[in-house]
Amino acid sequence: MNVSPRAAARLRHGHVWVYRSDLAASSPLPPGSVVEVADEAGNVIGSAFYSSSSQIALRIIWSGGQPAPDPSSLVEERVRAAVGLRQTLVSNSNAYRLVFGEADQLPGIIADRYNDVLTVQFLTQGTDRDAIRNAVVRTLADELKPAAIVERVDGRIRELEHLPPRQSGMLLGETSATIIQMNGIQFHYDGMQGQKTGAFLDQRENYAAAGRYAQGEALDVFTYQGGFALHLAPRCAKVTAVDSSRPALEAAERNEQLNRSTGDRPEIEWIEGNAFDLLKDYATSRMQYDTIVLDPPAFAKTRRDLPNALRGYKELNLRAMKMLRSGGILVTCTCSHHVPEHDFLEVLRSAAADARRSPRILEKRGQAKDHPVLLAVPETSYLKCLILQFTA
Ligand code: SAH
Repeated sequence: MNVSPRAAARLRHGHVWVYRSDLAASSPLPPGSVVEVADEAGNVIGSAFYSSSSQIALRIIWSGGQPAPDPSSLVEERVRAAVGLRQTLVSNSNAYRLVFGEADQLPGIIADRYNDVLTVQFLTQGTDRDAIRNAVVRTLADELKPAAIVERVDGRIRELEHLPPRQSGMLLGETSATIIQMNGIQFHYDGMQGQKTGAFLDQRENYAAAGRYAQGEALDVFTYQGGFALHLAPRCAKVTAVDSSRPALEAAERNEQLNRSTGDRPEIEWIEGNAFDLLKDYATSRMQYDTIVLDPPAFAKTRRDLPNALRGYKELNLRAMKMLRSGGILVTCTCSHHVPEHDFLEVLRSAAADARRSPRILEKRGQAKDHPVLLAVPETSYLKCLILQFTA
């Protein structure tokens, strides 16, 4: 498959995607096949998984002029390497990402470990083929000897990839429920439930950081199943946590119970509600806090949403900044890769100016290290987490 000069240059700079508009017209290829990628002059650049439907038509799995090895053995070797890398990256947790797609040279494959339960996702035509699915499952089972492996299916992604519908389900073992531990805090996990797999694995190191700075009265906004709130509690006099999802808050309360016996901690107040409305009410009634965490869902799902997303982030951060006492800490996140760090910082600057505050940046953080970022593929960096301290 020949690609445009622009795409060839991008690949030679280390990127791993080719968009459909950069493909030279040629006869249709079988969906999900492994194809050789070449520039216009026919010089081979590498091999890639082809998707007949995605805007990302090619995802590189092998670079250079040498013929690519058999895809199943390549996948097996890379899964082993990815698992091995995590042993050096992760500490004090039995829940972390094992395989992070492109960052592990395994585009279209995600795998997470939740103690003895593993979850996998096959996100493209190329990786949904039986040979690849089996290679991933076999290798993970061999490396980690889990009690269960659960496949998590995102119906929308399968539609976009023109893959037949499939249900989430057990690929190995029988029980999908377990208890995980991160930074000494325990959480219930069930691979067959929850909004998305790994909803909070990428925040694991930020939880620990937030826990180090937490003090006084704390507010965790968009708490989901209590990830930040439970890490704040041991250091705080009072913790209030907000989410609009009742099932998430019920899970959060069960997580709180699980950690009851470990040391002295205040009871957490779980509040169901719309964060925008609640923050507005709290600010109007002049509530004050010493620690606030903002970890909203991705407001910008596409680049087109960016202006609206930035307005949303500004509103939330402005209200939070107005409520922080002198010496107070704001842990503020965006998990959308369409919001570059530069834009996020601009939003925070503008919110701080409107709130007449001049916070200092204590830490600029990202996703946990088991979700590595590829230098040449900015799309692999999505989570930004700023820790700010407010002076009088
Ligand atoms: N901080 C969490 C992850 C947050 S995910 C963690 O570390 O695990 C985003 C959460 O925001 C979801 O739980 C979702 O239910 C909640 N949410 C989305 N829109 C909301 C809104 N307008 N008000 C309150 N919660 C909202």
